[in-house]
Amino acid sequence: MKIPNNIYHIKGNNGGPNVMVLGGTHGDEVVGVEVVRKLLDFFGVKGESGKTYENEIISGNLYLGFGNPEAIKKGTRGAGVGPDLNRSFQIDELNTPASEDDRYDLVRARELFPLLENMDYLFDLHSTYTPSEPFICMGNYNSENQNLYNVVPSKYILADPDNVLPKDFNKKELGTTDYVVNTSGGSDWSVKKYGKRKGVAFAYESGSKEDLGKSDKVFETVLLLLGEISLLNNKRDLAENNKQEVYKLSKIIKANNTGKFSFYDEFKDGWVAVKKGDAIGFYSESNQKEIAPCEGRLLFQKEKDGFDKGESLCYLATLL
Ligand SMILES: [Zn+2]
Repeated sequence: MKIPNNIYHIKGNNGGPNVMVLGGTHGDEVVGVEVVRKLLDFFGVKGESGKTYENEIISGNLYLGFGNPEAIKKGTRGAGVGPDLNRSFQIDELNTPASEDDRYDLVRARELFPLLENMDYLFDLHSTYTPSEPFICMGNYNSENQNLYNVVPSKYILADPDNVLPKDFNKKELGTTDYVVNTSGGSDWSVKKYGKRKGVAFAYESGSKEDLGKSDKVFETVLLLLGEISLLNNKRDLAENNKQEVYKLSKIIKANNTGKFSFYDEFKDGWVAVKKGDAIGFYSESNQKEIAPCEGRLLFQKEKDGFDKGESLCYLATLL
């Protein structure tokens, strides 16, 4: 299997899963980048990317790397205009013949795709744009994986079984790294274990991207995840199991007006609870308010100078 640039393969004893940990899939989310650097240090990797390093403390194959190196260099979400890397794993687009004009994020998606399809596990490290409780997310929630989800110190799990997110982007599929692994991942290891190829993946949203103090805690969590799947021999204290609530994306709250919009202070953070009829924010020019259409929790509130009518302001999640 070809190892792409900015990915490091750590080969352990045979008989374990293929596991990937990514940071910087969004280039401006630096906690994940920091954590992958710490992991490279921890496993004693000092050389170039795109190569294999042997290390007998692990069972299986560990791939550590930086999702979108160009975006990391620029400190931006994606490397250029158009959908960012984590929207770019759309099968139709991946399968179109490569051209010199292709945007970098798509080129990078093509480099990573064959590797992702061979992963039994993927943990993709992300941050949010506004303050938020940590959470994990994936397209489809699968209760079979709850023991693994439980390792992450988060109150919430977010799934999108109704494809609310891709519809908002006018795409058929979620097109994220975890979506690839969950829908078409798995190696011979999973065939032996489950009788079929099976990939398990999620994005770990560890909090606001401004909160850089998180990286030690996220690093420790990743080591516990690697222990839970027996890639590393470290057992966690089961008493520390987290109680998690599972939500699904239900609605996009779209701007009913044009111009500058501000969320009221109490509705600025991710996972804040709303009731039907709550005024969540207002348009400066008209002083018109935006009203929550039903009970739930607000997510991914957007901060920008002006909105067009019909553009998404945020999402609403309800219990699955
Ligand atoms: Zn992200």
